Amino acid sequence: MTYDADSRPASRRGGKISLVVPVYNEGPGLYALRDSVTAVMEATAYDWECILVDDGSRDRSWAVIEELSAADGRFKGLMFSRNFGKEMALTAGVEHAIGSDAVICLDADLQHPPEIIPELLAKWEEGYDIVATIREKVADYSLVKKMGSKAFYWFMRRFTDLDLPPNSTDFRLLDRKVVETLSQFTEGSRMFRGLIDWMGYKKTYISFCAPARSQGEPAYSVKKLFDLAINSFTSFSLVPLRLTGYLGLLIMAVTVPVLGLMVVSNWFFGANITALAFFTVFNTLLIGIVLCALGMMSLYIGHIHTEVVNRPLYIVRSRAGTWDETQ
Ligand code: UDP
Ligand code: MG
Repeated sequence: MTYDADSRPASRRGGKISLVVPVYNEGPGLYALRDSVTAVMEATAYDWECILVDDGSRDRSWAVIEELSAADGRFKGLMFSRNFGKEMALTAGVEHAIGSDAVICLDADLQHPPEIIPELLAKWEEGYDIVATIREKVADYSLVKKMGSKAFYWFMRRFTDLDLPPNSTDFRLLDRKVVETLSQFTEGSRMFRGLIDWMGYKKTYISFCAPARSQGEPAYSVKKLFDLAINSFTSFSLVPLRLTGYLGLLIMAVTVPVLGLMVVSNWFFGANITALAFFTVFNTLLIGIVLCALGMMSLYIGHIHTEVVNRPLYIVRSRAGTWDETQ
């Protein structure tokens, strides 16, 4: 793959920053977002734009976005034809951030405080390609959400090879080369931050305390979050596919010796093993064999899955020496 990742200027000061904000039923809250973002970004040395992606809101969000973009050219809006979910809103926003040197994704409800943006920019100027954030405290998460989030990160860390620290969020800065790499991913069911973590690159974390929502209700119900978690987990881990095979192996490992023991004790030591006992164990062994066969098939399905998601095979972070344009 001939992908020149490192064509940005050596110094990262100056240039253009795009903020990408997924919006779902945020309505009047967007005014507060505009005030906060404008105050923070005007204090930096960068040109900037703020791309608001309306993910099929059912309230006045789009009207507010139109009003904001008419009043200030730095605000822009994209409206989805229906609700596609935050991951897709982020993807669209990032894809439309053309010509910017870095993209910062943040939520519309001010739970990702824009005041931290200068810290993200400072880390980027130091040379980090991805500046991610970790949420230290969340003011308004229910116990179910908190426990669910703990379980999710535990599973992800244990069964995938992603470097996903607990409570990491979508509030993150991406250097242009990360954004360009992201455009090579074609998989439909995606976990935005999972893909970014999968890429590698030079990454650092900043922690912050998430305040309560500025207004409105969280759009993510427990069910929606659960679906997202399952989706994310299965796109980075083949463990569930292999579980049947492991179960089959376990059943075989137990039933084969038990069966052997029954036969030996019946024929050589005269123990009176009933036909029912014998067939019960024999049947369980058959189930084990079937599960093993399914497990084998799952291995092939796993290969198909890997081919179908069609991720880039490798990602070049930078190059040294003189290279031809065409290389
Ligand atoms: N969001 C979206 N599409 C959805 C759900 C949410 O674009 O289907 C946006 C929402 O407007 C907000 C961000 O994603 O900017 C996070 O949503 P929410 O605050 O509900 O999530 P939480 O803070 O609970 O993680
Ligand atoms: Mg929120």
